[in-house]
Amino acid sequence: MSDSLSPIQTEEKYVLPTYAKFPFLLIKGEGSRIFDQDGRSYLDLYGGHAVCVLGHSHPALTEAISKQASELIFYSNVCHHPARASAAEQIVTHSYPSMRQVYFCNSGAEANETALKIARKATGRSRVISMNDSFHGRTIGPLSVCGRDKLRSDFPDNLDHLTDFVPFGDMDAIRALKAEDTAAIILEPIQSMAGVFKATPEYYKELREYSTANGITLIFDEVQTAPGRTGKWFFGQAEDIQVEPDLVTSAKGIGGGFPVGVVIANEKISQTVVSGDHGSTFGGGPLAMACVDATFKTLESEGHLESVQSLSQKVEQELKSYQGGGLITDVRVEGYLIGVQVSIEAREITKRLREKGILAGSSYRPDTFRLLPPLTVSENEWEEFFKAFGEITQEI
Ligand code: PLP
Repeated sequence: MSDSLSPIQTEEKYVLPTYAKFPFLLIKGEGSRIFDQDGRSYLDLYGGHAVCVLGHSHPALTEAISKQASELIFYSNVCHHPARASAAEQIVTHSYPSMRQVYFCNSGAEANETALKIARKATGRSRVISMNDSFHGRTIGPLSVCGRDKLRSDFPDNLDHLTDFVPFGDMDAIRALKAEDTAAIILEPIQSMAGVFKATPEYYKELREYSTANGITLIFDEVQTAPGRTGKWFFGQAEDIQVEPDLVTSAKGIGGGFPVGVVIANEKISQTVVSGDHGSTFGGGPLAMACVDATFKTLESEGHLESVQSLSQKVEQELKSYQGGGLITDVRVEGYLIGVQVSIEAREITKRLREKGILAGSSYRPDTFRLLPPLTVSENEWEEFFKAFGEITQEI
């Protein structure tokens, strides 16, 4: 590194400016906290963008990584590997009962790209129905089904002429389209970037029935919701939903912070995929697979889904108690995927939270910030958030 430039300046010089950044240099993480260059700590309710489900540098994960790294860091999919076998089994057995097999890749965009490709082959059709305001990733395939117009209009040579966009939650809009041309319906079952919105249980059930009746592949993009973020391993396992898609995509938390993407297929779809249909050199590599395995086993053995279920109810109650005061106008809590709508620019709240040592995320809505913390966040840490938030409500 050049002597005259700081690490921040050096990064700005050499890395393309695709991300707006927090104004500090991150050095380390431990539990629910990250630490900057000056030793300042932040309670991380952003979770590295819904990724670090076990918190930072959880001993079970670092142990799994160092053990696997000392044995074999990488070999391609042409060899079987015990970590891949175990990771695949963990995912399939914790997902929907109808799921049978997985395909491993490296990111959410890649998982969605793959799912769309599989659905097109399985149906012999080319059109896709997607939801307004949805987000599915930035490569051309997923970008073409992103319901946020601005993302696509900046790159107009995408494939969105093959996509029909409909309002999330509106079955009539779907029924008005030509089902016989439709390969897939893809949706985030909870729209996260849009500000954390869920549809009614009936909507998911109708989507399932409609897709089955019309030979359409139903894809749940669970890049954010699985594993465990809603308090269930996968979204549709909630008691009031009980809906299984044909294909599930996930990424973010699935490797506890190690880059992994996955497509999970039910029996019918699995049978349509043959050798040579798709591939990814790094997908399913031993180190990544050891992380998936450790993440699922640790979430389970430490009971984090149960604590998400109980603590998120308390968080919801407490956030709602602010609703009468005028600052919070709506609260949408789906486990540890939380949208807080406010009567001012949400960015003003997240800035003040950061100044008080707490990180939160933004959303597409200027009036909504999101909390996407590690699933390990404790009651005391939530109290820390509420203390800071209470102060902010007095200051504003
Ligand atoms: N799908 C959803 C719902 C997401 O939130 C994201 C990323 O934020 C993606 C897909 C894309 O994932 P990645 O950034 O790993 O490509």
